[in-house]
Amino acid sequence: MFGFYKQNIGYIQEFSVRADQRRYAVDDEAPRHYIDLDHYETLAPIDTMPMQWDSAVAKYSEATLLEYGIVPWHIMKVKAWLTKAMKERDYEKIIKLSADLGHYIADAHVPLHTTENYNGQLTNQHGIHGLWESRLPEIFATKYDFYTGKAVYLHAPLSTIWQTVAESFAAKDSVLAMERELTLRMPNTKYSFESKGTTTVKVYSRDFSSAYHSALNQMVERRMKKAIFMVGCFWYTAWVDAGQPDLEFTVNQRIDLQPQLDSLAKLMQGETIKGRMETH
Ligand SMILES: [Zn+2]
Repeated sequence: MFGFYKQNIGYIQEFSVRADQRRYAVDDEAPRHYIDLDHYETLAPIDTMPMQWDSAVAKYSEATLLEYGIVPWHIMKVKAWLTKAMKERDYEKIIKLSADLGHYIADAHVPLHTTENYNGQLTNQHGIHGLWESRLPEIFATKYDFYTGKAVYLHAPLSTIWQTVAESFAAKDSVLAMERELTLRMPNTKYSFESKGTTTVKVYSRDFSSAYHSALNQMVERRMKKAIFMVGCFWYTAWVDAGQPDLEFTVNQRIDLQPQLDSLAKLMQGETIKGRMETH
């Protein structure tokens, strides 16, 4: 398993953004990336939402669940598909599903993927989504410690992923509150302009980003690190559940997925996103 993943890590990386790209083409894609728990709960812990999909559908209806997001259940679905692909040693599917699974698991670690106020749009904090998940890592991630240790087998992956989502939900109030507080403290230095290629773009200033990063007390690093660990655990669990198949393959079995990546990139150009636009 290790050899296979190491050999194909480049493809897995490239395909990992595919789930976001699909939001431009597939109507059903958007709700797979989040769950607006505050539609059901005002405060952690999450004790109104059943963990099991069928019970949740019975309680709230499928339409409601789809409207407010299904990330924990979709992760379980993709994990099942990955397990099947491993059993069948379908290398192309293993790569794509591993990438997708990684994507959704990472999304579940982002606090703003658990709230209706996902981009601060309800509290005049527009842009906070990109600040937390893009701007801060862009500036600070080189200093993060991503050493997670060995993946472990997950005996109850559904509860594990609900635990992840619960942690994200518990953190989202701080994510919003700290930004609000700092905005009051630094009203004139919140934004600055940086050149990107030939254009100049308005961004959260380095000072503001740095102050926010400190206020969050390693939260972004902790969530990213946990996400990395969890992705490994889910891949490993899928492989164990598949009966630990030998995934080594010889050089001439290698697959060329580049044409697919190219056509996806083309599909994205000039398209508008279906459903929720997370960043801008
Ligand atoms: Zn996503």
